[in-house]
Amino acid sequence: MLAAVFEGVGIISVHPVPRPPIGPDEVLVRVGAAAICGTDVRIYTGQKTRGVRTPSILGHEMAGEIVQAGPEVADWQIGDRIVIAPVIACGTCYCCQRGLSNLCINRVALGYEYDGGFAQYVRIPARAIAAGNLFRMPDHLSYAEASLAEPLSCCINGQENLGICPGDSVLIVGTGPIGMMHLRLAKAIGDTRVLVSEPDRGRRQLAEETGADLVFDPGAVDLQEFLREHTDNIGVDKIILTAGSPTAVNGLLGCLPKGGGIKLFAGFPVCSQSLIDPNLIHYNQLHISGASASTLRQFQMALSAIAEGDVGVETIITGTFPLIEFDKALERTMASTGLKTIIVPWGESTGGDG
Ligand SMILES: [Zn+2]
Ligand SMILES: [Zn+2]
Repeated sequence: MLAAVFEGVGIISVHPVPRPPIGPDEVLVRVGAAAICGTDVRIYTGQKTRGVRTPSILGHEMAGEIVQAGPEVADWQIGDRIVIAPVIACGTCYCCQRGLSNLCINRVALGYEYDGGFAQYVRIPARAIAAGNLFRMPDHLSYAEASLAEPLSCCINGQENLGICPGDSVLIVGTGPIGMMHLRLAKAIGDTRVLVSEPDRGRRQLAEETGADLVFDPGAVDLQEFLREHTDNIGVDKIILTAGSPTAVNGLLGCLPKGGGIKLFAGFPVCSQSLIDPNLIHYNQLHISGASASTLRQFQMALSAIAEGDVGVETIITGTFPLIEFDKALERTMASTGLKTIIVPWGESTGGDG
């Protein structure tokens, strides 16, 4: 089979590799689509190393069809169209026992410890099947659409514990694919006012078309002044930072009203530090939190939201490429061209539209 093999920082080469054999309690999936994630870029550039092997096959946002099932696999059959939650939790550690399986201390994941979806076939390990990480795809969804369940589930996790309420104003900083998903989710809560800070003009236009209430270029305004002007001098109740910019954090704290909250949603460069004024947090009783991965419940919610058309994934997918054009697809992602770029190992190139 053909695969894009990660061979070390800065090296991914597309070449034939043996099709992975499966065990009696495993399935083999013909990959229909595997989306490129910012995390793949961070692995490629050496900023993320945990769980990463060389050589290995990356890609953790994927959907496909079961083409082979071991004799001990009970619930899945050849022909099943599935989407895969890549993070396999142990179910017994401190975090899993507290309902935080997304933070499982013993987690392993497809696209990291196990080979992922940037290949024509992917082996689903027995422990992923046993842990409930396979989901049946609604018939009307394409593989590309279903592959976005993983990033969307992470956004759902971030918003659930940020606690956005109807009536809140929400500032989304950065509207790449993740920011766009946050925008749709925050609007779907109902009676929310969603503001978007985005330097790229094309992305600002898309955010506007997608229902943002106020879109602005952060380079053209004094952020705190601008936000106060547009919120009756109050500030925004909740902020979601989707860009890994450590220097942005303190300025954003100053945009929150008393009792406000900020979610640091993106990974930051290794060893980054942010200078923050702790009195802003103390006297204003601010809430600062992070977010990582998602639970299987949130994954199911994401898949349902995509199936119901709640998130407009069709506007988020802006290019599909076959495996052989992996470098082109990766380049687009690294250059922030368009929104989400997807690998369709058996499909045709659309070349991307922006
Ligand atoms: Zn991802
Ligand atoms: Zn665990």
